[in-house]
Amino acid sequence: MSSTNDITNQSGFTGASGATGASIAREGSLEAPTRHPIDWQNPEFYDENRLFAELERVYDLCHGCRRCVSLCNAFPTLFDLVDESSTMEVDGVDKKDYWNVIDHCYLCDLCYQTKCPYIPPHEWNIDFPHLMLRAKAVKYKNGGVTASEKILSSTDAVGKLAGIPVVVHAVNAANKNKTIRKLLDKALGVHPDAGIPGYHSDTLRKRFKGDGHQDSDVQSAKVKPTDRTQGQVAIFATCFGNYNEPDLGEDLVRVLRHNGISVRLVDQEQCCGMPKLELGDLESVAKAKEANIPHLAKLVDEGWDIMAPVPSCVLMFRQELPLMFPDDDDVQKVGNAIFDPFEYLMLRHKAGLLNTSFLESLGTVSYHVACHQRVQKIGAKTRDVLQLVPDTDVKMIERCSGHDGTYGVKTRYYDTAMKIVKPVVSRVKQADADHYGSDCPMAGRFIEHAMGDGSTTEHPISLIRKAYGIQ
Ligand code: SF4
Ligand code: SF4
Repeated sequence: MSSTNDITNQSGFTGASGATGASIAREGSLEAPTRHPIDWQNPEFYDENRLFAELERVYDLCHGCRRCVSLCNAFPTLFDLVDESSTMEVDGVDKKDYWNVIDHCYLCDLCYQTKCPYIPPHEWNIDFPHLMLRAKAVKYKNGGVTASEKILSSTDAVGKLAGIPVVVHAVNAANKNKTIRKLLDKALGVHPDAGIPGYHSDTLRKRFKGDGHQDSDVQSAKVKPTDRTQGQVAIFATCFGNYNEPDLGEDLVRVLRHNGISVRLVDQEQCCGMPKLELGDLESVAKAKEANIPHLAKLVDEGWDIMAPVPSCVLMFRQELPLMFPDDDDVQKVGNAIFDPFEYLMLRHKAGLLNTSFLESLGTVSYHVACHQRVQKIGAKTRDVLQLVPDTDVKMIERCSGHDGTYGVKTRYYDTAMKIVKPVVSRVKQADADHYGSDCPMAGRFIEHAMGDGSTTEHPISLIRKAYGIQ
């Protein structure tokens, strides 16, 4: 039986291999959970021997626990490997197969935030998602990531190109063409049946510039701060919100203004870096941070709250960047000033500043909680705001949709993702709801795709706009 005393870092630099202390260590911890910084700039982070020792240690503990089996396909892959090995223990699993587990992790963070009792300060010191991140970073550094994966994760560059007015129609038409989709499968590994979001040339940033309110509606005399909110919001449009779902950003702007909140866009932005993080390309995450943080920190200094309409992007600024750059004051500052839209609306409601004069009821809403919102631990604020609308019954679904970045469109994972989304689709169908949607617009689109009945997802913020009767 191995000791766990030499585990000194969640990134696993000194993790004991083959720990089997499950029977002696205490279950859970009474102390408040903490999370160690991601030590990605330390050369030891990329030492394969140390990585594999830590993978073996953690895989062994997970094999003894198995609590996370239903969360994603990474854990079932691990447990199948163990059960089918000659020893039926982790030591019987070929180390090469460890990568199969890593490849199935899309860093949703659910195992850390909602299941694992052995996270720090527990002596077992398990941080499964960040161990997967470390393994992905090693793979990336060793050239194990394909060119097509790199292209798919370049959401900003793809959006800019696809959103060029002349190009946009061709791209959107090509995405619906079976022959071209077969070629896309060969070239980029995108499943021919996967739903690909449409691109817009009238991006959110263009629309916003055109509406004449970029800065002119900042009337400080009218701004009403509360203890947690400034009452003026700078929106980080996000790649998806800018190029693929500008209507969503527009709905968010209208809802905020309807509540007396001044709104502007962040002056300059590029992708938050989440798709690169999911690939293990941490240098690109750092570059994205260098591009975004100075603008965001300046806005915070000027009294603006920051908001993004996509939960993954909020999580990036709120959690992952502060853990990657724990000594960067501006990163911490932005992390403390960024909000989920519904978290913000609920804070305003608590201060008596939310307009609750809704003109339309929503009936039954089947609402999917996005994993990257759930792990922010802000509570079910989307449900709470939706329930302020009279005659509205919200049925909440707390299960992964399976889309997760690019996982749900890749040929290699498409069938698995479709299996993961199945229970969510069943719940939506059972609810026989008037509306369904997710905080994550990509998850919403994936559920819509899996519904396959011609129905359309509606983002909760768009439902709130509808309930207000805002034209
Ligand atoms: S972070 Fe999410 S995808 Fe990765 S192992 Fe944990 S639950 Fe599975
Ligand atoms: S991550 Fe934690 S809760 Fe999940 S299987 Fe591993 S030890 Fe158990």
